[in-house]
Amino acid sequence: MRILGSEEKRKELIDELKAKGYIISKKVEEAMLSVPRELFIPDNKIMYAYEDQPLEIGLGQTISAPHMVAMMTEILNLQEGNKVLEIGTGSGYQAAIISKIVGKDGKIVSIERFADLARFAKENLKKAGITGVKIVISDGSLGYKDEAPYDKICVTCATPDIPPPLIEQLKPGGRMVIPVGSRYFQELFVVDKDEYGHITKKNTGGVVFVPLIGKYGFKYGI
Ligand code: SAM
Repeated sequence: MRILGSEEKRKELIDELKAKGYIISKKVEEAMLSVPRELFIPDNKIMYAYEDQPLEIGLGQTISAPHMVAMMTEILNLQEGNKVLEIGTGSGYQAAIISKIVGKDGKIVSIERFADLARFAKENLKKAGITGVKIVISDGSLGYKDEAPYDKICVTCATPDIPPPLIEQLKPGGRMVIPVGSRYFQELFVVDKDEYGHITKKNTGGVVFVPLIGKYGFKYGI
């Protein structure tokens, strides 16, 4: 389903995110302008597609707020051709934005624990004409060894600690963005691995994400 005046509404939202400093680079601006967010939202919430807020997508899960997608995408400093691992496919919207930036020479592997959401995301990406995203139904706290190492890792659910497999699967010179903390409140960390494999972590401030449920995440819940 599409909404009336979608392009104008999207432009207004992107201008607001630029004015507030969430969108800094041309490439994030262009990516967010080119992907209709309404294609990633259940029909009964579609009127809120261009509000800067997270929205329910079923199974107790959410599509992140546009400012959060912008922030995480800016932090990742994506380059054309990057291979990216996303944990928490949800609606597929964040993967679509990443895909626009890494281009046809890039690749995204996105892991989702719920088969129904993986299906929802696949349909949404198809509607948006996005190819180059491989969706895997699995526990993302284990990463995805088959395609490792990754230039960038984007974790869109909250973990109590950084899962060790994700650190292992990050390339030297690579970067991960990940919310770390309790079930209800986290800090968004930028994790860099240098050419020698040394890790540095930087806290960029408080955020709220749904929990990562898995071996290196929280142990129960939705
Ligand atoms: N990136 C998504 C988007 O653009 O719509 C939003 C992600 S939503 C905030 C978090 C997602 O992480 C949910 O879909 C949830 O099911 C998923 N999730 C939670 N634990 C997971 C795990 N261990 N492995 C993979 N996905 C997980």
